[in-house]
Amino acid sequence: MDVRTLFIAQTGALTAMAAMLWASRTAADDRNGMATWTVAVTSQGIAYLLLANAGRVPVWLSAFVGNALGAISVVLFFVAIRQFLGRGFHRWPLVALTVVVSVVAALSGAEYEGATVFNGFIYGAVQLLNGWALLRTPRVEWVRVQRVVAAFYLVMGVVLPLRATALMFEGAALDYINKPIAWQEPIYIFGFIFVIVTNLGFVLMCKMRAEADVRAQAMSDELTGLANRRSLAAAIEHALAVAARSQRPFAVVMIDLDHFKLINDRFGHSAGDATLARFATRLRTALRAQDQPFRYGGEEFIVLLHDADATGATLLAERLRQHVASPPDGTTPAISASLGVAVWQPGDSADSLLARADQALYRAKAAGRNRVETA
Ligand code: GH3
Ligand code: MG
Ligand code: MG
Repeated sequence: MDVRTLFIAQTGALTAMAAMLWASRTAADDRNGMATWTVAVTSQGIAYLLLANAGRVPVWLSAFVGNALGAISVVLFFVAIRQFLGRGFHRWPLVALTVVVSVVAALSGAEYEGATVFNGFIYGAVQLLNGWALLRTPRVEWVRVQRVVAAFYLVMGVVLPLRATALMFEGAALDYINKPIAWQEPIYIFGFIFVIVTNLGFVLMCKMRAEADVRAQAMSDELTGLANRRSLAAAIEHALAVAARSQRPFAVVMIDLDHFKLINDRFGHSAGDATLARFATRLRTALRAQDQPFRYGGEEFIVLLHDADATGATLLAERLRQHVASPPDGTTPAISASLGVAVWQPGDSADSLLARADQALYRAKAAGRNRVETA
């Protein structure tokens, strides 16, 4: 095998990836580790270019600068992964690692094997840490990608020290470019695949996380943090399917704050907003674990009461009404709400259920507000 050609191909792949990562940079990169990863890939690309040209460029350039940049990239990949996972790291051990690897490389000079053996153990440990961290902190949305990347890091973490041990015993040829060792060939090829898989994997992890974040934003209401109307549609469809199968009823409670216009008029729109946010918090704390609150629109909310019949739902709604109502208190306005309850009947659709809850709510308003009516 021609190691120089392989390293030059790897340099090309890394340079192309670095160029694409720089070209596609966004503000989000600073938060998810992608910015650090981009610098790491760039540093690794230059390191490979220098290592591929060992013997053609001065020894200090290929041995010292090449290994220093290699160490910097290993450290930055580690940091990028920690940033992505939202986990901390200590700066000084990483700086020390970079310095020690660079010094060992400078001392070994043209005798690359010394540095290769030393780096094998150090880098192996870092890759094991990467693999372990990735395996331990998965998020369901991209867990499979993260596990593949973790597997590659763990394998690399085992391969590197094994190779270093073998090199130590073999007293291998110093000129690894021109006199390659046959058993190292699969390791070089694995190294090439490793670079592709970890880079593609990290990009996919970032992309899938961004998608999950956007999806979560699209399903929730910014002011109250509750699920929004779009999620309600999906949740009702799900509840309808479950009820049709189990024949166990669930209920929809439609809630409308009383005289909310007055609150806005008297205290201002931002006080109105704060009231809505506070109301949502009170609503959440009053619910059972299985019940789901939604902001339906404006000052209207919906709660899905799972596994509740008419009696249970009316009782729960009454408890909600009492829990969310509060008298005026200096700067905060009095709050009360009217609630309309509709219980699932066989043949119901989302529209028919919501229409019944709306009618019940209308009756509660007409009967004087701050009360519960059941359809
Ligand atoms: P009632 O329901 O008791 O009949 O009286 P109401 O005053 O609450 O009646 P209505 O539903 O007509 O008015 C709702 C008001 O809620 C109108 C609107 O300005 C206000 N509102 C809706 N969304 C928001 C919001 O996000 N923030 C604030 N501050 N006000 C909102
Ligand atoms: Mg209203
Ligand atoms: Mg209202």
